[in-house]
Amino acid sequence: SKRRSRNTISFFTADMTHKMMRRLELESDLRRSIDHAELEVYYQPKADITAGDIYGMEALLRWRHPIRGMVPPDEFIPLAEEIGMIVPIGEWVLRTACRDAMGLHAAGQRLHLSVNLSMQQFRDPDLVARIAGILAETGLAPEWLELELTETIIMTEATQSIEAFNQIKRLGVALSIDDFGTGYSSLSYLTKLPIDTLKIDRSFIQHCGHDGNSATVVSAIINLAAQLGHSVVAEGVETVAQLAFLRERKCSMIQGYLLGRPVPLSEFTTNLARWGKI
Ligand code: C2E
Ligand code: CA
Ligand code: CA
Ligand code: CA
Repeated sequence: SKRRSRNTISFFTADMTHKMMRRLELESDLRRSIDHAELEVYYQPKADITAGDIYGMEALLRWRHPIRGMVPPDEFIPLAEEIGMIVPIGEWVLRTACRDAMGLHAAGQRLHLSVNLSMQQFRDPDLVARIAGILAETGLAPEWLELELTETIIMTEATQSIEAFNQIKRLGVALSIDDFGTGYSSLSYLTKLPIDTLKIDRSFIQHCGHDGNSATVVSAIINLAAQLGHSVVAEGVETVAQLAFLRERKCSMIQGYLLGRPVPLSEFTTNLARWGKI
């Protein structure tokens, strides 16, 4: 009816207005978040299941908003990217994570560090200089650092990718393809870029126990990585059954809630003592 469609329209309008207000508010809050020390880096362990120990950690950004509480990265990173804030935020994450990794090394925990890079950071002509500067400033040797990029970023920035990858590699920093298998289907970049690691997206891992196709994809990526001489990490491993499957398929590294959720540095450090052989 006419009445209902009018209501529907006003409902959508109110909803859109609400969303826009929320967004504007989040945007100005986000601009202040660094100065107000509301950002925090959490760490999630990554294990080498062949050697049986914790190999490294991934830095994952958190925003503790004074009123809204914890805002998930999927909600504010795209926004930070749009408004150009991701470059300073990303630099802050990298510096904080390198410093934290150095702290762990000093305490005898020599773990590798993975940090996510966004599209804008990857486009930044000063990226390589910034990375080199942060490594020099924190004292972390480049071989302990790995940067994670999604396939989508690589394909969108195809022409710049080769040069940027080569420059990062020349610094001695490793490169990893995040969410592997979910981006563009062209695999030609694999032959052109100096890649170290493929991270199998967690959607494949989560279904590999009950879905034959996912299991096939996981096996294929593990074999592809081995053939290309890359490491492979299974993301989002939550169950012992998934771990057993990955062991059987000779996947060397895992990350996921089975090992541990992302937690603040202090908790991560406490947990390190507790993890035995994987
Ligand atoms: P990602 O890089 O793919 O990170 C893995 C995400 O999966 C993390 O979500 C992690 O908490 C979650 N995860 C890990 N293990 C499991 C598991 O066993 N089960 C399930 N269900 N989830 C698991 P998080 O921390 O919410 O981060 C979401 C995304 O936000 C990240 O996905 C990454 O794309 C982005 N992100 C996080 N921190 C940063 C950052 O510092 N810079 C940039 N550019 N992006 C970041
Ligand atoms: Ca990642
Ligand atoms: Ca991922
Ligand atoms: Ca992801």
